[in-house]
Amino acid sequence: MRCWVNGEWIEAESKQVTEIRNPATGEVVDTVPRCGAKETQRAIDAAAAAFPAWSATSTEERGRILMKAAEIVKAKMKDLAPWLTKEQGKPIRDAELEIGHFLHGLEYYGGLVSKMRSDFVPLPGKNMHGVVMRRPLGVCGAIVPWNFPITLMGNKIGPGLAAGNTFVVKPASSTPLCSIAVIEAMHEAGIPKGVLNIVTGPGGEVGEELVQNPRVVRIGFTGETVTGRHVGEVAGRHFKRVSLELGGSDPCIVCDDADLDKAAPAVAIGRFFNCGQACLAVKRLYVFAGVYDAFVEKLVGRANRLKLGNGMEKETQMGPLHTAGQLKEVEEQVSDAVRRGAKVVAGGGRPEGPEYAKGHFYKPTVLVDVPEDARVATEETFGPILPIWKVKDLDEALAKANNHVYGLGSSIWTRDMTKAAVAAERLEAGNVWVNSLHYGHDEMPFGGVKQSGIGREHGIEALLSYTETKGVVYTML
Ligand code: NDP
Repeated sequence: MRCWVNGEWIEAESKQVTEIRNPATGEVVDTVPRCGAKETQRAIDAAAAAFPAWSATSTEERGRILMKAAEIVKAKMKDLAPWLTKEQGKPIRDAELEIGHFLHGLEYYGGLVSKMRSDFVPLPGKNMHGVVMRRPLGVCGAIVPWNFPITLMGNKIGPGLAAGNTFVVKPASSTPLCSIAVIEAMHEAGIPKGVLNIVTGPGGEVGEELVQNPRVVRIGFTGETVTGRHVGEVAGRHFKRVSLELGGSDPCIVCDDADLDKAAPAVAIGRFFNCGQACLAVKRLYVFAGVYDAFVEKLVGRANRLKLGNGMEKETQMGPLHTAGQLKEVEEQVSDAVRRGAKVVAGGGRPEGPEYAKGHFYKPTVLVDVPEDARVATEETFGPILPIWKVKDLDEALAKANNHVYGLGSSIWTRDMTKAAVAAERLEAGNVWVNSLHYGHDEMPFGGVKQSGIGREHGIEALLSYTETKGVVYTML
């Protein structure tokens, strides 16, 4: 595949390409151009040239184009989803769910943008009032990681395009294929050339150029906290607006009055979906003593029943980890926990069999008796590892849940709405789910506190974050 810049396919000036490999088989799926700063500048030029006309279209027109783009991508779902499975590793059904979530976001912002209204402000002077306008920002950069390449791209371009901005998208180096195909499909809806561009290449070159180049005025970044800190620092020097969606270590509390039959599948999905490679995932589980044994048994059963395999096979429920590096990290985190005294009650290693030999597979793993200083407790786990702790009450659960550098998602399972309200108030996180799965609803603001980042995606908040206010004071003569 090639990059899409200013309405045409481009290659890297150097003609170099990057091979994209299937994490389940190690096979090369396709290649993409290995671009750098020059090609990125070309895309920024195109986006800057396209901005005046795009920002001048009516909100209804932009909304209509986004809706149409969603319709076209939906019609091509069966062609698009296999790209995502082959480059990322996730089961084909999950690839379709991910694209479905992206479409929902496009439709949400396509519908929302023409419904927004502004403020009329009475002022003290005679015959004087203010109007607060909202204007698009200009050229925006969307920097996306490999775990949910399509929805995380959509979280940026959905609200940003609707608000009237133009974009240069930088996909993760290992997952550009489906993103390119989706952007190509979106253009059939009539997105003018230069409005939406995608450039492939290393983060240190393409991403860095987006963050450094003063003509890019807003960066939407999702990725690791270390990269996000760097992006934030550099963007800050240029007074760029940024949203940084970074790492997480979401706690989940299961009280003794919880509906365990509803909680168990939600926790299992919440941890093992996408092979545990999700920012929003149940990464630390705190279970009240009264239901601890019963709940651990349910989770172990679910972990053991999950069917691992190549995501292209219909019966696969969990694919491989995305890279050999991810696999090594997960193995080391589990070994560290075991060395410190944790017990493995499910999984704990790679699956055996020729079908797993060439992929980065790891069994869904449940750990108990985990010391507080184990890496699975103090770091982000980005794989199928579920550490569980027994707690005596809500105070202990909340103290442990909050004892972390991250603050992205969190959840509580209880029938007692007073307990739920106390938890919602006290959990140090950008989002709290009560009796439900950690899921990023397009309608709700989503993002983190502490080292999980700044800014919000989703919701009206994201649309507003791709605009700035202009206060206009009128005096009637
Ligand atoms: P990285 O931070 O390594 O990469 C994210 C993106 O940043 C990639 O496109 C990468 O490009 C690019 N990048 C790398 N270096 C730079 C740079 N110097 N300047 C600009 N861009 C750069 O994260 P991962 O890909 O490892 O993603 C996983 C992480 O994302 C996890 O920590 C996870 O928690 C977090 N995440 C957070 C979410 C949230 O909403 N809070 C949602 C999903 C994931 P390249 O691929 O070429 O290196």
